Order: sequence, then structure tokens, then C-alpha cells
Amino acid sequence: MKRPSFKTQAFVLRFINYGESDLIVTFFTREFGKLRGIAKGARRSRKRFSNAIEPFSHSILLFSRRGEGGLAIIESCDVINHYPGIRSDLEKTMTASYMIDLVDHFTAEGKKSAGIFQLLDDFLKLLEMGNSVEETARFFELRLLRLSGYEPVFERCVICNTPLSEINTAFFDTTKGGIKCLPCGRGGQNCIPVSTGTLKILLMGKQIETNRIHRLVLSETALKESRDIFRHFIRHILGREPKSLRVLDEIRKMI
Ligand SMILES: [Zn+2]
Repeated sequence: MKRPSFKTQAFVLRFINYGESDLIVTFFTREFGKLRGIAKGARRSRKRFSNAIEPFSHSILLFSRRGEGGLAIIESCDVINHYPGIRSDLEKTMTASYMIDLVDHFTAEGKKSAGIFQLLDDFLKLLEMGNSVEETARFFELRLLRLSGYEPVFERCVICNTPLSEINTAFFDTTKGGIKCLPCGRGGQNCIPVSTGTLKILLMGKQIETNRIHRLVLSETALKESRDIFRHFIRHILGREPKSLRVLDEIRKMI
């Protein structure tokens, strides 16, 4: 019986060599969520997949498979966007690698998430066109957390509900996933000091339309504080730090 074929948009998350000439590729697709497939002969003939199998490449994927959950057979993969503007810049390349690493960690195989697909699509475009690389990464983290059910609380103290507008000194508690005021957070473990200015701009980043996000410019302090908050919070959720983040740290030291 012939296997049914499917067509979907997809981003390449990662791939490994298999046998002498094949690749096992993990995609994040619009219609099928995360999907693993075998690209037969992909290493022998790059032409066959026209270099579509590169990390974070956006393409139209044609695949077949017997039943859900099995390894798909990749029939073809045609590039929609290869992001030359990202690939020509080391910091942007590593930031895009970090973004797909996060998507990989926060999604499950076979579970569709059109929201996260759209987020990745939007933010790779922002990264390609804009110069605010760190801001793009921070707002991506923020929105990915929200879409994954881990939205950090910046609006009020998670213990006593004091609104941010009445808080002068705040801490971010990674285990609670939200801010605490001074009396609730003082001396607490897992509490990172954060200025209210940083929290206010992050709140704006939650709401603002994606095409206006480049207008939000973070100060040095806000960049450092937000970097710390998300790093610790994401490490708390995942139980470890994404590997690509360490590589990104190394790259930043060189720039
Ligand atoms: Zn409080």
C-alpha cells in the first residue's frame, strides 16, 4: 500500500548523519508540530534537497509516512527562506541557533503549535532585517514562554499582589516565575534583583505588535538584567541550560 504524502511548511531544527549517505532531520512544521524524517541520499547529493537542510532554514516539506509518530520519509524540501542576512553574521547565526534550540526544548514531537511556528517565523525575519539582536532574543524568549504556558509575571508581586507601579525594589523569583516586592523577596533564594524600568520595558514587549518590536530599545542595564532573568528562569524550567546559549556566550566575548 502506498504511504500517504503530506505537504507543510517547516523549519529545520537539527540533523544527524545516518548510515553512509542519509540524514535524520528534526523539523518543526506548521501542521504537524515537531517531526523527524529521513532524507535519503541527502549527503551524497546536496542537489537533491537543494541545501534546504540547514539549521533554521524555512522550507516547503513534502513527506510520507505510515501512521503518526513514525519516522517520515522526506520526499522533497524546497527552501522558502535561507536567511542569508542571518548566516552572514556570526552573532545573528548563533542567536537563530539558540532560538531553534529553545523551540526544540519547548515543543513535543507530533504536537501542533501554530502559535510557536508563527513566532519563529516572525522572529527569524526580525533577526534577518534588524540590528537589535539581543532585544530580539529576549522578546522571543518572553513570547515563547507565554505560548508554552510559562508566562513570567511582571505585573505584580506573586506573593502579596502589590502592583508593579507601587514597587520600588523588585526581585525575580525563578521558582515562582514572577516578581516579588522588597518585603516578600528580600534575602530569598533564587531571587534576582531587577529594576522596575527593565520590568516595564519587558511588559511592553509582551503586548506590542511584532512589527513594532524593533522600536523597543533596551538600556545596558535592562539588557543585562533581562538576560539574567531569562537565563535562570529557562534553566529552572528545563532543568539545564540549552547548549547553544553557552556557544552564544563565547561568541559575545569575542565581539
Ligand atoms: Zn510582595
